[in-house]
Amino acid sequence: MRVEVVTLFPELIEQATSHSIVGRAQASGSLELHCINPRDFTSDRHRTVDDYPFGGGAGMVMKPEPVVAAIEAATGGDPTIPVLLTAPDGEPFTQALAQELASLPRLVFVCGHYEGIDERVRDGWITRAVSIGDYVLTGGELAALVMLDATVRLLPGVLGNESSAHEESFEGGVLEYPHYTRPAVFRERGIPEVLTSGHHANVAKWRRTQALVRTRARRPDLWEKLLPLSKADQKLLA
Ligand code: SAM
Repeated sequence: MRVEVVTLFPELIEQATSHSIVGRAQASGSLELHCINPRDFTSDRHRTVDDYPFGGGAGMVMKPEPVVAAIEAATGGDPTIPVLLTAPDGEPFTQALAQELASLPRLVFVCGHYEGIDERVRDGWITRAVSIGDYVLTGGELAALVMLDATVRLLPGVLGNESSAHEESFEGGVLEYPHYTRPAVFRERGIPEVLTSGHHANVAKWRRTQALVRTRARRPDLWEKLLPLSKADQKLLA
């Protein structure tokens, strides 16, 4: 997968993606990542990327010319490449969207700053605007990194254990069951007996039950969507 990030702070993206799983995904060729700085598409001495808002008010707005030039450099003018704007008023980012993005060969993230980007950019050059939550960040880099991280780990071969991406929270609409590792007793706290029983079917039942119980207790919104429960799940909770 090839991803371009349009950002005024490429070093933020490059630093954060050079380690761990996303770093290894680049080393193995699963991910090709490029940053494109709108500042490189300015022509004035100060390399200006922002200006005062029409109509007045506080804050600055990212000028359309350098951002659009950066987007065009990122896509090479190919209109089939999705361009995602990071925006607090965008559609919510979800695991389902991460899966959708992971199936794409190319993708561009656009990171806003200040009050955001001139609305005409959104109207003409953005495929979809996406938010990572109902709060306001100082810039789009952390949002782009969150989306990139969640997407890259779903690419084939990126996670060591292929199955680990399938059982996680939000896959199948439930939160994940709890995990334990050695030692079996830690500061007088033990682990559920079934996990050392060697009985795989019982372990699977216990995990499914825990996932359901957690989802019901912690995320009523997800729980609602699970209803009506399958007969098998009803039996586990009975
Ligand atoms: N004036 C904007 C508003 O009130 O909606 C907030 C602009 S914010 C200070 C600057 C940039 O950070 C945005 O253009 C966007 O790129 C990014 N950003 C902030 N919060 C975000 C969120 N929750 N999800 C995605 N991007 C976000």
